[in-house]
Amino acid sequence: MPGNNSSQPEIVIPEDLTGPGTERLAQYFNVYQDSSLWQRPDELADLISGARALIVRNRTPVTAELLQAGRELLVVGRGGAGLDNIDVAAATKLGIVVCYAPVQNATSVAEHTLGLMLALVRRIPAADSSVRAGQWLRHEHTGTQLAGKTLGIIGLGHIGRLVAAYGKALGMELVGYDPYLSTDSPVIKQLGCELTKFDALLTRADVITIHVPLTDQTYHLLDRHALDQMKNTAVLVNTSRGPVVNEEELCFALEAGQIAGAALDVRENEPPAPDSPLHRLDNTVLTPHIAAFTTEAQNAVVEAVAADVMAVLSGKPANYYANFPSPRRET
Ligand code: NAD
Repeated sequence: MPGNNSSQPEIVIPEDLTGPGTERLAQYFNVYQDSSLWQRPDELADLISGARALIVRNRTPVTAELLQAGRELLVVGRGGAGLDNIDVAAATKLGIVVCYAPVQNATSVAEHTLGLMLALVRRIPAADSSVRAGQWLRHEHTGTQLAGKTLGIIGLGHIGRLVAAYGKALGMELVGYDPYLSTDSPVIKQLGCELTKFDALLTRADVITIHVPLTDQTYHLLDRHALDQMKNTAVLVNTSRGPVVNEEELCFALEAGQIAGAALDVRENEPPAPDSPLHRLDNTVLTPHIAAFTTEAQNAVVEAVAADVMAVLSGKPANYYANFPSPRRET
């Protein structure tokens, strides 16, 4: 595969995405990487005007306009599972392949979800802070067990299924809501998960965990109406996408004691305002969108996307493609 030493980059990476996979790409292609370029859309549009590949994480809005600016673009690689920052339909129309990493970080996200659940119900962050402050409060940090409780899983795809298996291993009852799965789906039966209606899950679960993509249907899926139906002892965990939960209404529900707690890895605005009212509550556990940030997951994601971008640029099919466009031009 020929390298390219011209100043026009062949591959543009406007975010922080590094690993052996991107290093290998740089051996074969002229790669331009700047982790803050996503914040300067005009400059990005200029840079991709002659590029053949764009590789992003979740911060770059890959709009129809940006894709049109990439007149030579053959492929967009998304280093992660969600595709909500990419206009896949526009890419398809333009003949641009979108490839992503749908499974490579699922284990890390599921493990982080489990960590958030335990942190929340056992008050681990609050207990840790109090010990560091010189206190030794034990009764104040009395928690609840997960064993014997009902785990409600919204979205039973790659991550939801792993979380289901971890919940089962802890002795939890499983209920799931996923309108795209049939109630007799063998995979779900094998997990020992009962598929229910959304409202039934809300009223039955002690811990609700969200694993859906962000779509028109899932935007603010957890709103005031949904939160109202939860038990006042129940907790909510969100490692999917921030806008799936109406944050203002969640804050109200937490302050009013309508639900017992919430753990969020993802937020409606990222980064959130430092004075967000959620930061003042002691029944929240908050992490900065790090569920997929493990060495293993990051290397696997970068590896998968780099391999697929390399394949498409060499005229071969991608392993993990999100669309199936008609060829745009000769590769
Ligand atoms: P997946 O596509 O394997 O599963 C998503 C599931 O949600 C599918 O089974 C689908 O049928 C279901 N679903 C779709 N719309 C729904 C709806 N309206 N109600 C209920 N279920 C619905 O995806 P995944 O790999 O399990 O990932 C889930 C989401 O997690 C991703 O879309 C992404 O947004 C998010 N994610 C977050 C991080 C992070 O760092 N926090 C990392 C990876 C993925």
